[in-house]
Amino acid sequence: MAVRMAGKPVVEAVYRDLADEVVAIRRDHGVTPTLAVVLIGDDPASATYVNSKRKTAADLGMDTRDHIYPQGMGQGELMALVAELNRDDKVHGILVQLPLPKGLDESRVLESVDAAKDVDGLHPTNLGRLLIGKPTLVSCTPAGVMAILDHYGIALSGKSAVVVGRSRLVGKPVAQLLIARDAVVTTCHSKTPDLAAVTRQADVLVVAAGRQHLIGAQHVKPGAAVVDVGIHRKPDGKLTGDVDFAAVEPIAGAITPVPGGVGPTTVAMLMRNTVTACKLQIGAR
Ligand code: NAD
Repeated sequence: MAVRMAGKPVVEAVYRDLADEVVAIRRDHGVTPTLAVVLIGDDPASATYVNSKRKTAADLGMDTRDHIYPQGMGQGELMALVAELNRDDKVHGILVQLPLPKGLDESRVLESVDAAKDVDGLHPTNLGRLLIGKPTLVSCTPAGVMAILDHYGIALSGKSAVVVGRSRLVGKPVAQLLIARDAVVTTCHSKTPDLAAVTRQADVLVVAAGRQHLIGAQHVKPGAAVVDVGIHRKPDGKLTGDVDFAAVEPIAGAITPVPGGVGPTTVAMLMRNTVTACKLQIGAR
């Protein structure tokens, strides 16, 4: 039976360290790490994510500032709000909750966030830093994937790692992080002709395709470590992933569950990025 790579113990270890760091920052610098959350529109899933981020920040002794506009907002107004948050030196991290409602240009908004406050790690400067091997603020889900692999002691150096998906949000940054750890990385995407032939080579398989149960037993090498980033809601209301867990678990050496795998680590990495951004801005070590 595969090792179940749950997110909870990973997250608990991160939060223990962060809570101590927040206390030290306040003691030594008189500053409380502060995250501004911008939520436009009335998407219930986004509202749930924002609530859980706010609660987690509070539990860690951090502050949050809410900028919530359920009735929507124009592009100009949103850009002006981001500019104001960029100037506010009491705000260390800015999170613009995605997806933005139709009619708003996501790329323009993300690029207008000050790279030093870009706790989502999606600004071109931060993606570029990742590419040159000098990351500071790494996008949260990819960082969570790496935290899970490290927590469960999955070897990466010289290992074959296959990433399914090439999005800016997940696939591309994960591939870069794995390269930086000396894995031999292959990226697959929707035009890969024989997916199973490639994924079966993987010692480490990271799946972020957004296709429910795309990965079955025939895609997995016995003993591989499988990380499932996908999230889908089944008709019965339960969550599931891009990996058919029941089929793959008997073959894999280690596997993340959905829910309870990568998901919780994403929020933890957002908190870590906020503390990192704060320390960089106030010149703390
Ligand atoms: P996306 O739609 O932007 O990208 C999907 C990628 O998968 C694309 O690069 C595409 O080429 C590739 N792909 C699609 N079908 C494929 C196929 N049949 N074979 C091979 N590759 C294929 O999605 P995303 O934003 O990267 O998110 C992926 C999944 O991860 C989604 O289910 C999303 O909900 C989930 N997600 C989870 C978290 C989390 O916190 N756990 C965070 C972000 C995204």
